Amino acid sequence: MVQINMETHLLGANELLAKKNHNLFAQQGLLVVNLMSSPGSGKTTILERTIDLLDGQIKMGVIEGDLYTDQDAQRIEKKGVRVIQINTEGACHLDAGMVGKAYQQLAAPDLDLVFIENVGNLVCPAEFELGEDFRAVVISTAEGNDKISKYPLIFHRAKVILVNKIDLLPYTDFSLDNFQRDIAHINPSAAIFMVSGRTGEGMENWTEWLLREVKGKGLKR
Ligand code: MG
Ligand code: ZN
Repeated sequence: MVQINMETHLLGANELLAKKNHNLFAQQGLLVVNLMSSPGSGKTTILERTIDLLDGQIKMGVIEGDLYTDQDAQRIEKKGVRVIQINTEGACHLDAGMVGKAYQQLAAPDLDLVFIENVGNLVCPAEFELGEDFRAVVISTAEGNDKISKYPLIFHRAKVILVNKIDLLPYTDFSLDNFQRDIAHINPSAAIFMVSGRTGEGMENWTEWLLREVKGKGLKR
């Protein structure tokens, strides 16, 4: 008992709910990915492309986090996948309690993969476990190179980093060499994909990698 109380104290309320979510996802053989970035990096466009490329191979659902609107959820719904909207009403990150409720609504036992699109923000989403299997962080070439050193925690905890808007690289000052150097310091084991959600460039490398991760959990059919 003493040990449990200590653990409760140390982990905090969010971490306990995240563990509960994680256990539930694991029981259902579901892969859950927490998708994070600053606003405008292209999370939703990457999701749209990912859904298209994996169509017919796996069953996917999406939990959409946004401050007030359901614009992204509408875009995802058009792709024919189940989507649940969370409006945080001003809160700048998702927490495990919000995700647990959305997951109940999603009714996901038949799904193989669930994406959680977090609120666009590189700061506090990094500190909130949601119960996900891993984190995917998007950085776009239009944002500049300084984001990795300015927001190290979010990049440190990512299993995969998508460098989006790679088609715009010639028109920006983004340096792939500097990016590789910074990531080598902060998170040398991260899987890196250079992609363009807009043109589709590099997206198949990402979805092939993702499909292997999903298959690692076992497909439902
Ligand atoms: Mg979005
Ligand atoms: Zn926040």
